Amino acid sequence: MNDRMYIDGQFVEASNKQTRDIYNPATGEVIAQAPEATPADVEKAIQNARRAFDEGAWKDATALHRSRVLFKIAEAVKSNVAELAKLETLNMGKPIVESEFDIADTVTCFEYYGGLATKITGEVNPVPDNALNLTLKEPVGVCGQIIPWNYPLMMLSWKIAPALAAGCTVVLKPAEQTPLSALRFAELIDKIEELPKGVINIVSGDGPITGATLVKSYDVDKVAFTGSTEVGRWILKTSAETNLKKVTLELGGKSPNIFFADADFEAAIDGALFGIFINQGEVCSAGSRILVEKSIHKKFVEAMAEKAKRIKLGDGMDRDTKMGPLVTEEHRARVESYIKIGKDSSAKLVLGGKRPGGALANGYFVEPTIFDNVDNNSRLGQEEVFGPVVAVIPFENDNEAIRLANANPYGLAAAVWSKDFGRAMQVVKQVRAGIVWVNHMQPTYMEAPWGGYKQSGIGRELGKYGVEAYLQAKQVHINLNPAPIAWY
Ligand code: NAP
Ligand code: MG
Repeated sequence: MNDRMYIDGQFVEASNKQTRDIYNPATGEVIAQAPEATPADVEKAIQNARRAFDEGAWKDATALHRSRVLFKIAEAVKSNVAELAKLETLNMGKPIVESEFDIADTVTCFEYYGGLATKITGEVNPVPDNALNLTLKEPVGVCGQIIPWNYPLMMLSWKIAPALAAGCTVVLKPAEQTPLSALRFAELIDKIEELPKGVINIVSGDGPITGATLVKSYDVDKVAFTGSTEVGRWILKTSAETNLKKVTLELGGKSPNIFFADADFEAAIDGALFGIFINQGEVCSAGSRILVEKSIHKKFVEAMAEKAKRIKLGDGMDRDTKMGPLVTEEHRARVESYIKIGKDSSAKLVLGGKRPGGALANGYFVEPTIFDNVDNNSRLGQEEVFGPVVAVIPFENDNEAIRLANANPYGLAAAVWSKDFGRAMQVVKQVRAGIVWVNHMQPTYMEAPWGGYKQSGIGRELGKYGVEAYLQAKQVHINLNPAPIAWY
């Protein structure tokens, strides 16, 4: 198992030799030690990314070259799906079947941006002059990329693939809890000869030190961040106080999953459970508020609880497991604090709320938890739990559903379930969220934009928008008829 960082094509320890214990959350056992980068280590990575960018070996390479390298990266990941999926599950806890999907999506992400690299084009602007006025698309430069622990390698691909397609160089920091797949990724791509040294750097370590060094640096042109709203705010503020680096943020959510009485009932129940309990609820777009029409409310909650009892909790390495442990003991404590908030409120605990015990006692497990009759304005109705805890909120009519859906500071995602397309489309139009699913929840496509309205973030990832976030426009004006100017 690789336990070194990747700076300028070299595998290195932290300069002060400091490491951090990495745990298997299913058992609480230490499974590896990862380097804890110092500010000087991060600075070294930044300077190498800077040199790799400024010397031009990557940004001035042909688009076809960059495309081919991205396909080679995809191939390197694809050839190691089983190993990377296992690493992901051991380090993060999620069911192995989900890890396999994540690694497959990682491959697709590199392939998608491999294809897009050769389709980045500029524009010719119709100015009222005898001139050629062009817009060139140029890479933003050196990018600091900071990712969370819920989809470790997939988040890496969402960051690195579009940046490389655009011609940027990167320093990526995985979450402190889950660096293993990123460090292994570095070993795999190191073998790609056509990828110049310094284009991809990976530094593991702590947010307030390793991550913050990236955010404060005057040599970093852009920071791309996925994580908590709190850290996102700090990044924006720090950019303002330093070099005004470009910032894209993908933050939290409290996404409404809206069910009308005319929805296909069984599909709706599955959609409600999948929407919240996939990945143990550790999903930024988790359908953590279930808004359900009053006429089916009682039946709906009963059916949800009945089916949720069948969700198998267990070690992610077990192929039958549907929900693994939470990522860390601290995170479980945070999730449990919200369960307490729910219990102390007027809401009714319908299912779960406990640790499973028995063979799972050493892992950081929490049962699928359903609270009914949650007040949308209460803390459980408003705040992101980031775990397997769902708030059911009944509504009277369509207008109330839309009002409740929007009565939240977040706006990442939403879903609406109905057989009446016109009705569903009213919700799609009125809900202030960056992603809205109809009769589905959670499918994510590399081809389509991803990102939040309101306090769920700034900018978009994935699709063509994903690469735009790593490009800047340069206007070039060419006078086709130079003549003396009668000016003085
Ligand atoms: P977090 O602190 O925002 O962590 C996300 C990433 O930011 C990690 O790589 C983290 O590094 C880094 N970071 C932390 N402080 C930083 C700083 N001052 N400067 C630069 N980088 C910094 O989130 P978390 O503590 O892992 O989770 C807390 C909550 O955030 C969750 O409960 C959830 O509500 C939300 N969250 C949202 C998403 C999402 O996909 N939108 C993902 C994860 C978490 P370290 O890992 O070293 O701290
Ligand atoms: Mg942290």
